Order: sequence, then structure tokens, then C-alpha cells
Amino acid sequence: MRALIAPIAAALMIAGCSPGPADPETLYQTSTITALMAGAYDGRTRCGQLTARGDFGLGTFNALDGEMVVLDGVVYQVRVDDRVSRAGDAMRTPFAVVTFFDADAISTVVGPIALAQLRSQVDSLLAKPNLPYAVRIDGLFKRVTVRSVPRQNRPYPELAEVVKDQAIFELHDVRGTVIGFALPQALGALNVAGHHWHFLTADRNAGGHVLDLVADKVTICIDDCDSLYVAFAAAGKLTRADLTPPDPDVLHRIENQPMCRPTHPTLPFAGNCA
Ligand SMILES: [Zn+2]
Repeated sequence: MRALIAPIAAALMIAGCSPGPADPETLYQTSTITALMAGAYDGRTRCGQLTARGDFGLGTFNALDGEMVVLDGVVYQVRVDDRVSRAGDAMRTPFAVVTFFDADAISTVVGPIALAQLRSQVDSLLAKPNLPYAVRIDGLFKRVTVRSVPRQNRPYPELAEVVKDQAIFELHDVRGTVIGFALPQALGALNVAGHHWHFLTADRNAGGHVLDLVADKVTICIDDCDSLYVAFAAAGKLTRADLTPPDPDVLHRIENQPMCRPTHPTLPFAGNCA
């Protein structure tokens, strides 16, 4: 009898410690933005586990090896040279946010319209601004300025140092998709409050983290999420950082500002030093 009880107890523990069934209205994230900013670049979650939690999202890969885009159930890796490839199910992520995208509201915008105005348009569609929203924007873009980051070696520098080495690319007159989130300020200790957008061209050949854009004719779709599941990073000195709210100025620079020094001289650089 004892031999039978042990496996049952083990099974219950596993079930109790695992996330519940994937809910299409749940925003699922691994680790937190503060842990990522502090240099927690190696996570345990595999891309195959991520796509079981959502078909739409963004993030990065272990060792901070480029930008992640999850679109229509496929995980793409945008490396620092802007090459895009499909990520294997076994690849791991230290930080990612996904949900199953299912549009709650749709709006068409005829531009040209700059990033700030486009984000205001999105904001005007958010009927429940205290909820997290996934934002999908498909169409033609006059320009999209994207960045990716170089793979890191241990000991890992903080994210603010890494983005000084980011590679920036300008895509002109491209058809593609913005894969983004608009999160309430209340979630700022866990994730990027406000807008965080990645981009992928329709031919899946270029993309990255959006620094700037001008949209031409696009369709905005938004999807509200009524719950949030956070899989915290492994225990250790960074656990405290998991819940420490990020410095808003440092986070703003990481997420939004092109840097002025191209440290990858062989790669195209479009940094705005004005
Ligand atoms: Zn990003």
C-alpha cells in the first residue's frame, strides 16, 4: 500500500505546482521585467511550453539571444543581425509574455500616423484600462525602427548595459504585424507598464523590438485578458528583484531610446543621435 501512496502523492504535488489548464483569457508570463533588468537571462521555460500557454506574444531567449516574437502559434527569434528564424520547442526563455489572441475590438487606421498617435488610437479602444490587453496591428508601415540585442556571456551585465550594444534597423514600406501589449500601471512591478511592441514582417524575414514607426494603413485588434499568471524566476539572489518595481527612467531608456553608439560596426545602424 505504501508503494501505491508514494506515486499518488508525487502526482498530486506535480499537479499542485504546475499552472492550471491554459485559459485563453489569461496573460501568461515567465519571470518579471525587474529580474530581466537585473541580469536574470537564463530561464527554465521552453518555447514548447510557452506555445501551450498562448499563440501570441513577445520576450527574449536565454543568454538574451535576440528578441522573441510569438505570432499565430509560432515562436520566432530575431537575432542581433536581424536574421529571423523559427525557435525550436526546446529553446528556453528567461522572460516572455503570451496569451491566446482573440480580438475583442477591431479598428482600421489610415495614416500616415506616427507611433505616439497610433498608441493613442489603441488606448482609445481599451474599454477596461485596468486590464492587460494584447495588441495586434496588421498592415502597411511606411517605416518601422526595430532593435535586437546581442547574445550575452556570463557574468551577465544588467540590461541597461546590454542595450548600449543593441543593433537598430529601419524597415521601409513593409507589410507586417505589431505584436504588443498595453498593460496598466499597476502591473509595472512585474512587466512593462504601458505599451511594449515587437514587429515581424509579413515575409517573416525581419523584425524586432519596436523603437519607432510610422504606420500607413493598418488594422488594430485588441484582446483584453482577465487574469495574469506569473511563473517567477528560480530562487536565488534575483528573487528579491522579481518584485522590486523597476526604475521608470532606466526602463524607459531600455524600451524606447535608440542609443548613439554603434558597437557593431559591420551591422546597419540607424541610431538617432540628435
Ligand atoms: Zn521588447
